[in-house]
Amino acid sequence: MAELKIENLHVEIEGKEILKGVSLVIKSNEIHALMGPNGNGKSTLLAAIMGHPKYTVTEGKILLDGQDVLAMSIDERSRAGLFLAMQYPQEVPGVTNSDFLRAAINARRESPMPLFSFIKEMEKTIKDLEMKPDLAHRFLNEGFSGGEKKRNEIVQMKLLKPSIAMLDEIDSGLDVDALKIVANSVVDMQKNTDLGLIVVSHYERFYQLLKPTHAHVLVNGKIVIEGAEELVTKIDTEGYDWLYKEFDLQPVVEDKKQMPFSLGSCAASSKGKLV
Ligand code: ADP
Ligand code: MG
Repeated sequence: MAELKIENLHVEIEGKEILKGVSLVIKSNEIHALMGPNGNGKSTLLAAIMGHPKYTVTEGKILLDGQDVLAMSIDERSRAGLFLAMQYPQEVPGVTNSDFLRAAINARRESPMPLFSFIKEMEKTIKDLEMKPDLAHRFLNEGFSGGEKKRNEIVQMKLLKPSIAMLDEIDSGLDVDALKIVANSVVDMQKNTDLGLIVVSHYERFYQLLKPTHAHVLVNGKIVIEGAEELVTKIDTEGYDWLYKEFDLQPVVEDKKQMPFSLGSCAASSKGKLV
């Protein structure tokens, strides 16, 4: 059983405090919905957990099964069982999807996975997600549609078999059919592997398919209210206005100039090679 514990986390980007004391515990088999208006720190939280160098933790703790995550490099965090499906998956020309996946799998094994087993598993996963078979052999995310990029993040998750996975707006860019395929695939994996999940989405439709066990709303760098599925439904029908009034909060105006965080810095290990 895995447990990710976040205690009083404060995170800064370029000197600006974005997270102002977030505490959260995610265990195996739990599905946590993370909601909140744009620009309030949802992606920042996930990026800080995964160890993106641009996000500086100034206070607080992140523990995975009691181990200090903040002391680990990004590749160590991945090997320890954490996974992040990014809001904006990066295109990596020159690296084929299959080479990337194989390198990532082998980096967490004592001896490399036999090529035949790898190909069989990769092809099955791509087929389960109803993706075109040639996507395995094209450069990572290059020229993929928005939906294909998002499904490809799920392919990575299925092959890397994390214990705690974070999905950042994985449903954006998916049509209704693709949404069901992705949701079913995530639920299937969650049931079979006891996966614990943090899922950022704005859409109740996606959460209806996933059935979150917990829900949290992040406003201005703090979790202001927690609940379960009923909270997701309330936000879907009433929006966030009532929260601002009830908790006397100031809306955060989203900074449009922000750069989506890039795989280039996120997937590189401290030794400078792909993990
Ligand atoms: P959310 O995911 O809730 O929409 P984010 O965590 O992406 O919000 O952003 C929170 C705040 O941090 C915003 O003000 C955003 O502009 C800023 N921010 C996020 N990422 C970066 C970055 N890489 N560089 C500079 N500012 C950033
Ligand atoms: Mg975001």
